[in-house]
Amino acid sequence: MSDQNLAYNTEWLQQQDNQHYLHPFSDHKTLREQGARMIVRADGVYIWDSDGNKILDGMAGLWCTNIGYGQSRLAKAAFDQMNELPYYNSFFQCAHPPVVELAKTIGELAPAHMNQVFFTGSGSESNDTVLRMVRHYWTLKGQPEKFTIIGRHNGYHGSTVAGASLGGMKPMHSQGGLPIPGIHHIPQPYWFGEGGDTTPEEFGIQAARELESAILDIGADKVAAFIAEPIQGAGGVVIPPDTYWPEIKNILARYDILLIVDEVICGFGRTGEWFGSQYYGLEPDFMPIAKGMTSGYMPMGGVIVSDRVAGTFEQEGGEFFHGYTYSGHPVAAAVALENIRLIQENKLVEYVKNDIGPYLQTAWQTLSDHPLVGETRGVGLLGALELVKEKAGRVRFDSELDVGGMCRTLSVSNGLVMRAVGDTMIISPPLVISHSEVDELVSKAREALDLTMEALQ
Ligand code: PLP
Repeated sequence: MSDQNLAYNTEWLQQQDNQHYLHPFSDHKTLREQGARMIVRADGVYIWDSDGNKILDGMAGLWCTNIGYGQSRLAKAAFDQMNELPYYNSFFQCAHPPVVELAKTIGELAPAHMNQVFFTGSGSESNDTVLRMVRHYWTLKGQPEKFTIIGRHNGYHGSTVAGASLGGMKPMHSQGGLPIPGIHHIPQPYWFGEGGDTTPEEFGIQAARELESAILDIGADKVAAFIAEPIQGAGGVVIPPDTYWPEIKNILARYDILLIVDEVICGFGRTGEWFGSQYYGLEPDFMPIAKGMTSGYMPMGGVIVSDRVAGTFEQEGGEFFHGYTYSGHPVAAAVALENIRLIQENKLVEYVKNDIGPYLQTAWQTLSDHPLVGETRGVGLLGALELVKEKAGRVRFDSELDVGGMCRTLSVSNGLVMRAVGDTMIISPPLVISHSEVDELVSKAREALDLTMEALQ
């Protein structure tokens, strides 16, 4: 057997994996029994596994390969930067051209009042950074008692201690004594799951007012910030009712509370705007970013900061004791710049807004006639399907059945990566997806639903 064949020997890879590799977000008992699917190659919107199966990646990896796979210009940008300056840091009053150019470029794409960027290695690190920056800001303002950050149940802000604490994932909190002190969670604006008999519009207001109640309970003088994703991604593509964000904005303004909009998924074009904040007309103080920033080709994240906050850091002075060895890594920065250039040259944000986004949403809606589907929803290149036992009254399956997990497994085996959050099926394909690939995605999603129906009988 040649080395090439050995590299793609699924059984051998799975054995080594079982013996040596601890996976993120995996049940190791099941993993060891079933073996990992080995992904060996990717191009455009497709991935291939080690058995030669071609699979449409309806999740863009982990919501990140916005420009699709196989863009060799990013490889060249990394190669050239590694030869020129493979590493240097931005501590102790240093910088380098790629990081400066990247900060300028992102500042120009962000809402007008946000012009400065702090760089990190991931979305989780970005949210750790936000937590520290928020508290530093209020301390500089002479109000260190403004300390509590309010997040939402089922929100996701990463997996580090602060990220997982800001997020509202109960299974994560149940491991390791989270959340850390000074973080409070309110209900999510998830009408399909929690809206009961209200209309979406009524429910949007009701969910937003949960923020006001929490502020009044804790005391406005003790609340530093509110953190939320524009559209809750890992929580199941929870799209807030139209009434939600305007009401949140009013409440935050009333009590002088900072707004953190986690753009790790929505940023870099997914909603048809550069940032989800622009889609919803928000004016955040902080926008954590990652994923689409490099399209996942290099690990990199950041926090875009408002002039109000950055101006305070500058005016008040004093060192902010925070940073990472890889903050603003030159190779990652060069790759991010090339990624943004590709998005701009190919007009991908406009493509999502005016062409492929509406095309996907129209096609996705056709799935609502399927007997298993209680709701289809989406924005830009994000979509969700709610699997139900009975459409009327939004009746769910027994969670023990894990119908979502069943549908996901059948879908991947049938050639489409969809993800399951409970019984919510979600998609987030690369922004470069074509019309015919959207057709394939939707027909494969329907096949997965049919296969799930069969399996349930
Ligand atoms: N914030 C959001 C909204 C995310 O979806 C994620 C990851 O999925 C993160 C933060 C964490 O990013 P990372 O996995 O790069 O640490």
